[in-house]
Amino acid sequence: MIPFSPPHIDQKIIDEVVDTLKSGWLTTGPKTKRFEKELTKYCGNKSTLCLNSATAGLEIMLRWFGVKEGDEVIVPAYTYCATANVVMHCGAKVVFVDISEDFNINLNAVKKAITENTKVIMPVDYGGYPCDYDELNTLVNTADVKSLFSADTEVQKRLGRILILSDAAHSIGATYKGNKTGVLTDVTVFSFHAVKNLTTAEGGAIALNLPEPFNNDEVYQELCIKTLHGQNKDALAKTKPGAWRYDVIEAGYKMNMTDIMASIGLVELARYDQETLVKRKHIFELYSKAFSKNNWSIIPEYINSEKETSYHLYALRIKGASEEQRDMIIAKIFEKQVSVNVHFVPVPMMSFYKSKGYDISNYPESYNHYKNVITLPVYFDLDDEKLATVIDAVVRSVEEVMGV
Ligand SMILES: *Cc1c(COP(=O)(O)O)cnc(C)c1O
Repeated sequence: MIPFSPPHIDQKIIDEVVDTLKSGWLTTGPKTKRFEKELTKYCGNKSTLCLNSATAGLEIMLRWFGVKEGDEVIVPAYTYCATANVVMHCGAKVVFVDISEDFNINLNAVKKAITENTKVIMPVDYGGYPCDYDELNTLVNTADVKSLFSADTEVQKRLGRILILSDAAHSIGATYKGNKTGVLTDVTVFSFHAVKNLTTAEGGAIALNLPEPFNNDEVYQELCIKTLHGQNKDALAKTKPGAWRYDVIEAGYKMNMTDIMASIGLVELARYDQETLVKRKHIFELYSKAFSKNNWSIIPEYINSEKETSYHLYALRIKGASEEQRDMIIAKIFEKQVSVNVHFVPVPMMSFYKSKGYDISNYPESYNHYKNVITLPVYFDLDDEKLATVIDAVVRSVEEVMGV
């Protein structure tokens, strides 16, 4: 069976993890701090905080901004549930908007969705392909959008406008107009979950790039406290001689990254551009070359003169396929010993969100993308021979179901 996205765990990662295990320091410590510095250097942003997941990163940024009941947060309908769930956790209203042809949030839909209650927009770089950040950044800074914004907290007053919180769970290493994700907007959150491009088993990071008058190092310090029980000292600081006493200054959360996780991330990041992305790009190119020969294929957009994906998800769409036909094609592909997937079932289609009154018929492009999409295996050890097996399984399965 060809798997969908197994991790690439080699001796280098094992050695680095063993080094941590033998070091006497397992939780947040020197390796996490080093990983944060390396990430900051890689992305070019101002300050980076590592956490135990991207979900935690998204939620703590909403809470840092003071998002609460009565507020609205704009989220694409076509995303993983985490993007919307964190808004629910804060008691705010999720305002779903539809997507464009490239699977990313639709700018006109965002414009129409903004009200005097909008506090945050959470664009998602689907499959690793960056959203239109210049347009989004300009939009929240336009006079009429700014004048609608009502600041309820000190932080909101300081920003004076809607915050853009990028869900970049897929897109570390992607570029937009020559810059990497992490510097494209106010705050960018990466995921290092096991199936993501760059993994720490579980994990995530907040890349801070807030404009003046924010001091991103100070925000980093605030977030360290918020994500570790509101303690004014972390575990490592407390081990310094005589430094046992600490205070709790708020009822904080428990979201910190461990040094075991960071040791995996350090190895992953060091080879990310030279090895991981090169390999993933090669796989994307071979898929596109093969499937463009078939007139039933809709090839995903992943590179143009301004943007380049991080090659996370290869989302092939089958022209004319209904949801039922797509499901049959997937069953046929699995019969041929190849694992494929669907990213994503739009969030408004999930039972919980349906029970809250959301209806997929309000997001027709999200449904049109979902109904005929199949995401294909992309991983480091997928060699050209296995790739040919995947392509053959997909082509034959589409032909069997669609009769083309
Ligand atoms: C994976 C994913 C997340 C959540 O990442 P975790 O690190 O598992 O919390 C959020 N948003 C999107 C779009 C994702 O694919």
